[in-house]
Amino acid sequence: MLDYVPSFTQLVSELNKLPGIGPKTAQRLAYYILNSPEQYSQGLSKAMHEMHLKVRKCEQCFALTENDNLCHFCEDTKRNDSLLCIVEQPSDISRLEFSGAFRGRYHVLHGVISPLDGVGPEDLTTQALIHRIDLSLKTEETAIKEVILALDADLEGDTTVLYLAKILKERGIKISRIAHGIPIGGDIDYVDHRTLGRALENRVDV
Ligand SMILES: [Zn+2]
Repeated sequence: MLDYVPSFTQLVSELNKLPGIGPKTAQRLAYYILNSPEQYSQGLSKAMHEMHLKVRKCEQCFALTENDNLCHFCEDTKRNDSLLCIVEQPSDISRLEFSGAFRGRYHVLHGVISPLDGVGPEDLTTQALIHRIDLSLKTEETAIKEVILALDADLEGDTTVLYLAKILKERGIKISRIAHGIPIGGDIDYVDHRTLGRALENRVDV
């Protein structure tokens, strides 16, 4: 590449490592940063570094947080403890929150079961989920009674639902899956918040 400007080449190579960023886009972004005022690149690198230092996963639900122990969803005393929504990624929580249709607790799997990609239940937060549920079932007030699976309607989503449904049914927990309004093969990333709100209200039993 542009070996006579090694610092430029270095940035292009770092940007190229980002998902969905090919060499051409990496070059375009590097030119954009180069042509922006110095404050922009300072702000950008500071924001990236600070995020890395501060953001961690909640000990209980694995959502992203800057709190020491539990995230603000787990700390919120007004939420319904008996209702748990399982999502694939932390970003799914923002969309469900924006829909305004859910006031229970969350659990983030950080992926879905995908045998083709070599991702099994042990690579996700499923053990912690089972532990959390079993702990909740020790008393009536803390018991998780219903689990909503807000996973994509694709093969990996279906595989994950089947796996979790077995574990939850063994514990007598009601299981539903958001379905209505989400197209087959649909990614909940691209569903607007009103459709997502309706999908939650019209969830179907698994
Ligand atoms: Zn949490």
